[in-house]
Amino acid sequence: MELEAAAMEKAGEKVCKLNIGNPALFGLVPGEETLRNFSGCAPSALAYSEYRGTEAAREAILKYSLKKKLPNVKEENIFTGNGVSELIEIALDALLNPGDEVLVPSPDYPLWTASVTFAGGRAVHYLCDEGSDWYPDLQDMEEKITARTKAIVIINPNNPTGANYPEEILLGIAEIARRHNLIIFSDEIYDRLLFEEEHTSIAALAPDVLCVTMNGLSKSHMLCGYRVGWMVFSGAVEGAGSYIEGINMLCSMRLCSNVPGQAVIAPCLEGRGRVEEYFLEGGRIRSQVSRACSLLNEIPGLSCQMAKAAFYLFPKIDSSVYKIKDDREFAVNLLRDRKILIVPGSGFNWQAPDHFRIVCLPEEEILASAIEAIGEHLKNYR
Ligand code: PLP
Repeated sequence: MELEAAAMEKAGEKVCKLNIGNPALFGLVPGEETLRNFSGCAPSALAYSEYRGTEAAREAILKYSLKKKLPNVKEENIFTGNGVSELIEIALDALLNPGDEVLVPSPDYPLWTASVTFAGGRAVHYLCDEGSDWYPDLQDMEEKITARTKAIVIINPNNPTGANYPEEILLGIAEIARRHNLIIFSDEIYDRLLFEEEHTSIAALAPDVLCVTMNGLSKSHMLCGYRVGWMVFSGAVEGAGSYIEGINMLCSMRLCSNVPGQAVIAPCLEGRGRVEEYFLEGGRIRSQVSRACSLLNEIPGLSCQMAKAAFYLFPKIDSSVYKIKDDREFAVNLLRDRKILIVPGSGFNWQAPDHFRIVCLPEEEILASAIEAIGEHLKNYR
């Protein structure tokens, strides 16, 4: 679909892209200071760094991890990467043997499912329950554990649902991991993009469980193109020597992550960027998400929960109102007929053809007319 949209654009058509969380495309950029830091560091970033990352970057990540109350973190167990994306692959490659299973949420950020599969494992999806603020269904999660299960993935705050998990849910997941001796992977790339509540890292609540917390600057500082991510091992690291050795090996094989990108980690984590302001009352992203949410809810047969974080909405299509059998086909037709690019729910490993995700980064008026067009397009399925 993305390629088709690109071809349409090349042919001179204007496509409204609500498919990808790439803030800078929509004029959402980090402050001058961040950009100055990046250009200023160029001469000192010519060489490969230590494969885990520069000392300055890892010290800043350590400080940030301590602020988030991650237990038992040592600088030697912090790894920078070319975005969280690269680290997801490395973390799973080092862990999985053929046939090993990993519990992944449904809906998920699809790279997790794909990376489990590429690493030779099997992604087993547990349900996140729309009726309970999109929190993971802990019973479903536990019922899906088998002798082959190695790890639980959580995405918190969540893409695509915008959920931010409360402590009781995180404690429940930690307890399941503890009982079944599983690793927890927590993708927290949206942890500073909150509309209201605080964010709690699951690792802070699970000092006796091996947790791998992933984070980066793509979203929090709107630096997607710089490719800056990191992962932090915490909790029961002492029993994980051979796994962490494998991670060291894979990281050293790719020499290091992008060094100019690493150079902005410390200033970004220490300073308060302009980005958080987009999420405060009256802030641009907050206004866009809440306007988009109410407009979606005004369309008969659509319902949408307001996100607690990030900039996505994942509305539900009432299947008794709209006869959509194949949500991908619905999305392709929307692109061809209305020039709007969305991602169907199945793109997030959601099983029923009754959801789609929109990115609320365009300005309010653009979002409003796109949502109106989606409402019109839906009428074809009545
Ligand atoms: N994890 C989640 C949940 C995401 O939504 C994304 C990007 O959208 C990523 C990871 C990838 O992040 P990065 O740019 O750091 O590779």
